Amino acid sequence: MRETWHERFAETPDVLKRGQRQRTIVPVLDMAIGGGEFIVMAGPCAVETEAQLMATANHVRRNGARVLRGGAFKPRSSPYAFQGLGLEGLKLLARAREETGLAIVTEVMSENDVPMVAEYADILQIGSRNMENYSLLETAARAGRPLLLKRGMMATVADMLRSAQMVLDNGNPNVILCERGIRTFETATRNTFDVAAIALLKQISHLPVIADPSHASGHRDLVPALARIGVAAGADGLIVEVHPDPDKAWSDGEQSLNFDGFDEMIASLAPYVALRRQEIAVSERVLEAVG
Ligand code: PEP
Ligand code: MN
Repeated sequence: MRETWHERFAETPDVLKRGQRQRTIVPVLDMAIGGGEFIVMAGPCAVETEAQLMATANHVRRNGARVLRGGAFKPRSSPYAFQGLGLEGLKLLARAREETGLAIVTEVMSENDVPMVAEYADILQIGSRNMENYSLLETAARAGRPLLLKRGMMATVADMLRSAQMVLDNGNPNVILCERGIRTFETATRNTFDVAAIALLKQISHLPVIADPSHASGHRDLVPALARIGVAAGADGLIVEVHPDPDKAWSDGEQSLNFDGFDEMIASLAPYVALRRQEIAVSERVLEAVG
């Protein structure tokens, strides 16, 4: 890593690569996120019903996902929109883990909810709207679960690294960074997918980076292409919204893949994931040679 990047991000030294510290591997159940395996996290935007969640969990597990996503507490643009099932949603997620073996990632929105969400989730998601909520970050960091830190929609890479540093400072080394698109003047897509941020984060930080092509695009037709681009940019995994019947979804249906769409996306990713595996093998050999 270039010295100029160290100077540029000097405020957040612990999240930067240095010496032997080239990558953090986040352990989740039997997985190593940020290791060699490309991790697919998939599931509905929100947990709606038992049937919806179980069908989705079983489908995505059979077709390549290792982690089930699903919001029980939903940050919504409108105060009148569905806010999530809360504890009932968490219980359904736990049941899905029992049935499928998938790990669970779900958002925690308030400090008060941290103990409850941490009891059910394997990974705590910090949503975009809360990326800079330092009191939530502190409490979540101390809950003893890995954190999935989603980039704020108006946050720079430096802002995101500051939030990650905050988590590390609170004794939690297990942070997964997530690029989910940022707000720009472009309105054709829901957000603008900042692929350069993925490439940059992979160069400068030892933390795993995952891509969210669903929120980055806002349109299901674009999700497979953005997923491929995410892999090519160096992401360690994806988080993607999948629903049995996206047009009837209670939230984010427009950007959710149906089951066939998920399978097609996974199939189209295969050559990119294979290439990634080769690149990792080469860079590991280089690292070994350098000692
Ligand atoms: C989500 O993952 O459903 C979500 C609300 O994401 P974000 O915080 O990135 O908007
Ligand atoms: Mn969503």
